[in-house]
Amino acid sequence: MTVDRMLPTEEAHDLLALTQELCDRELTGKADAYEARAEFPREVIRTLGRSGLLGLPYPEEVGGAGQPYEVYLQVLETLAGSWLAIAEAVSVHTLACYPVYAHGSERQRKSLPDMLGGELLGAYCLSEPQGGSDAAALTTKATRDGDEWVVSGTKAWITHGRDADFYNLFCRTGEAGPRGISCLLAEAGTPGLEPQKAEKVMGLRSSAPSQIVLDDVRLPSDRLVGAEGGGFGIAMEALDAGRLGIAACAVGLAQAATDYAVAYAREREQFGRPIAEFQGVGFMLADMATQVSAARALLLSAARLKDAGRPFSTEAAKAKLFATDVAMRVTTDAVQVLGGAGYVSDHPAERWFREAKVLQIVEGTNQIQRLVISRALTKG
Ligand SMILES: Cc1cc2nc3c(=O)[nH]c(=O)nc-3n(C[C@H](O)[C@H](O)[C@H](O)COP(=O)(O)OP(=O)(O)OC[C@H]3O[C@@H](n4cnc5c(N)ncnc54)[C@H](O)[C@@H]3O)c2cc1C
Repeated sequence: MTVDRMLPTEEAHDLLALTQELCDRELTGKADAYEARAEFPREVIRTLGRSGLLGLPYPEEVGGAGQPYEVYLQVLETLAGSWLAIAEAVSVHTLACYPVYAHGSERQRKSLPDMLGGELLGAYCLSEPQGGSDAAALTTKATRDGDEWVVSGTKAWITHGRDADFYNLFCRTGEAGPRGISCLLAEAGTPGLEPQKAEKVMGLRSSAPSQIVLDDVRLPSDRLVGAEGGGFGIAMEALDAGRLGIAACAVGLAQAATDYAVAYAREREQFGRPIAEFQGVGFMLADMATQVSAARALLLSAARLKDAGRPFSTEAAKAKLFATDVAMRVTTDAVQVLGGAGYVSDHPAERWFREAKVLQIVEGTNQIQRLVISRALTKG
């Protein structure tokens, strides 16, 4: 590891070492093959769950590992440096466990040990084909019929859409706007819940999202998570924390790209010298390393606010915005440092460059992050 981390406990150091060992043993060597086949690595996720990496920030009483968010995020960062699709899967799964953990009934919370242990994989279904940014305008409808909810509509871009065991469905149960939205929990295999084919994506091909068609899906009334009409608040709370996960993925990816570019520049010779000795290349490497350190600092400062129980929503938006823009710039520069070798799949820089793009889009595009930050500045 090239990063000198200030971790809060010895246990956290051990956890990061275990994560790196898992990356070296289970992830790094497999990523390219799974990406090429566009195959979801469910078994790898299960292994991570059994190693305790899928419930890190949740309390031990419910089956989590009771780790501070700042530690969980550095685990994600490490995973992302090895295989972004896995880090993103862990981040999305952690997000998908949030509604039941924070707002679930006693009965729903009985599933938490299996969710946090990785036996049950989660999906978070907010976006729809007609809109992702304006999530409060969603149209998937849930109506009451006796003791059941009947759900109809289409969810779009759902990570784990084809592989999840449980789905958080954000549905319209009342008036237009955010107050008419509720969260319902559905199991895979429920009649009428139909995952569609995987999208043909630019990157993260081993974890491609899919649409979910909901055709008169009948759910018992006790599948409502939290209060009726409280779904949008739950979705936004989950996203605040989830955005830190995406920022951590971005930092890990950018760190890996920087490390790879440095190693390549020290080896590759032109004009009789390693290219790292040319100032034009050395300064590019310096800018890459500085941006990654700045992104990590912003991420960890937002995480520490969350760990201290202080408001962190705006800081999470800043971290997501900055870290993912850094990942895009740094992976672009890594391709440049490698020259022609950066443009072919023999080196990971080509994959990292494609993967970085999605981080500027998911869990609120970077325009939406700017909206969140500017609203906080101008409206308080
Ligand atoms: C690989 C992948 C995985 C995903 N996983 C999930 C998932 O698991 N669950 C889920 O619910 N969703 C998921 N998404 C969806 C993702 O969150 C949305 O794509 C995203 O929120 C943007 O929505 P949209 O695609 O509908 O774009 P649109 O909302 O149509 O936006 C199009 C463009 O307009 C800009 N824009 C929109 N409104 C404004 C505004 N007010 N001001 C300035 N610019 C604006 C946007 O920034 C963007 O550039 C995933 C997407 C991808 C690509």
